[in-house]
Amino acid sequence: MDDVEKYEIVVLGSGEAGKWTAWTMADAGHRTAMVERKWLGGSCPNIACLPSKNIIYSARIASLARRGAEFGLEMDRLRINMAGVQDRKRKMVEEEHQFHAKRTADAGIELIMGEGRFVAPKTIEVALNDGGTRRVAGERVFLDLGSHSTMPDIPGLAAANPMTHIEALDLDRLPRHLIVIGGGYIGLELAQAVRRFGSEVTVIERGAQLAEREDPDVGAALFDLFHDEGIDVLLGAQVSQVEGHSGKQVRVHAEGGSGERIVEGTDLLVSVGRTPNTKGIGLEHAGIELDEHGYIEVNDRLETTASDVWAMGDCAGSPQLTHVAYHDFRVVRDNLKGGNRTTKDRIVPFCMFTDPELARVGLTETEAKRDKIEYRVAKLPMANVLRTHTIAEPRGFMKMLIGKESGEIVGFTAFGIEASELMAAVQTAMVGRLPYTVLRDAIFAHPTMAEGLVFLLGQIENVAG
Ligand SMILES: Cc1cc2nc3c(=O)[nH]c(=O)nc-3n(C[C@H](O)[C@H](O)[C@H](O)COP(=O)(O)OP(=O)(O)OC[C@H]3O[C@@H](n4cnc5c(N)ncnc54)[C@H](O)[C@@H]3O)c2cc1C
Repeated sequence: MDDVEKYEIVVLGSGEAGKWTAWTMADAGHRTAMVERKWLGGSCPNIACLPSKNIIYSARIASLARRGAEFGLEMDRLRINMAGVQDRKRKMVEEEHQFHAKRTADAGIELIMGEGRFVAPKTIEVALNDGGTRRVAGERVFLDLGSHSTMPDIPGLAAANPMTHIEALDLDRLPRHLIVIGGGYIGLELAQAVRRFGSEVTVIERGAQLAEREDPDVGAALFDLFHDEGIDVLLGAQVSQVEGHSGKQVRVHAEGGSGERIVEGTDLLVSVGRTPNTKGIGLEHAGIELDEHGYIEVNDRLETTASDVWAMGDCAGSPQLTHVAYHDFRVVRDNLKGGNRTTKDRIVPFCMFTDPELARVGLTETEAKRDKIEYRVAKLPMANVLRTHTIAEPRGFMKMLIGKESGEIVGFTAFGIEASELMAAVQTAMVGRLPYTVLRDAIFAHPTMAEGLVFLLGQIENVAG
């Protein structure tokens, strides 16, 4: 292979972990190439986290505007302009793109836009977006391939040409009636936003509750929220057939305990999970093995089965969150500098940006019981936190699990306004392995959400003994 261009570092996929690896290596003077087929900077700034939170925020403004009179603001009529909503989002995405392009160029990285596949160990052939091919080989190769929406094999579904989050986040029009298959966080965030813009929305979830990884009280609270916002939710409903065409007319057959129900709508969004982007890219030519779910097999230092090849982020089976992909990068970076960091026992926070938010760090009660971890639990309605009265958002609760022997916090869930920020305060205590009494006895500013922690923990006797 005479035509192979040689680099010290080759990064395949420019997502969160990939771009940080490329930037850091290039900044340190290594000759670096990065291969990306479409989204420079990866999913987060282009088609996932940031655009979704941007659209969700517009939907929140719409919701608050509708409630204007409650706050003493009167307006005659609210009109949603989806083109305007999209303009704001596209401007942000474009600014992100410009930033990534400049950062990559400034670092002196050879950015190769095209689809990469392995043709030999540590050697990638790129089918260039502009036509033609290039071959690059790296002394060290880093994979950050990401994942895509899983499309379940349901009769009629593919023919209905349903939307994934990518199309749904780019709609210039408002669906008359959006049907969402899947009650996980991506489906729920989008369902609520679209409802707030004015569409009819139905969510179909096969599990017994929304957000099925969470405790039943969380699922029930989300169900109530969606009910109150006028979103129809079908639980325990398995989609058996789809008819029609998304964007025009669709009929979704859902089977559940009470027989078959047919839901008719105009648009269909599928959000039932993610599939790693590891198929058909020649990993077998490079000695890179996959696990039984199609994720790249890595050890707890994110080393693959091929020497000098690392995998990070969604494709490596890490929890599918941008901040985890960024942490993966930090583990690899520090180990390359002689460190000994691992992905074991990470405290991974999660937030669903419904309004109000759901935030969790550490264990749910269901997980604690499953793992036979003895705990005590404190639960406080958000309405008991005075901050929620000042902003008229008293919905939800917070709940903390305390290890019975250790007195350390083993899990925290908050469903309520500003829950993500509240969670960060608790996470800090968890990272420091502080006993819960440190938070209980602290002074938090009034009136903030964090102040609620004192009242939450005031309920618990000293479990550390
Ligand atoms: C709608 C939505 C909302 C989300 N919201 C949040 C959120 O609020 N917070 C959060 O933490 N996480 C969120 N996530 C999850 C988060 O986006 C992902 O976990 C994160 O982007 C994964 O980063 P990554 O680096 O692993 O992969 P990606 O960012 O997906 O990067 C992989 C890159 O590799 C490229 N690529 C893949 N294969 C090839 C190939 N063969 N050749 C060339 N290029 C290739 C892809 O084009 C892509 O750019 C959300 C996801 C979705 C879908």
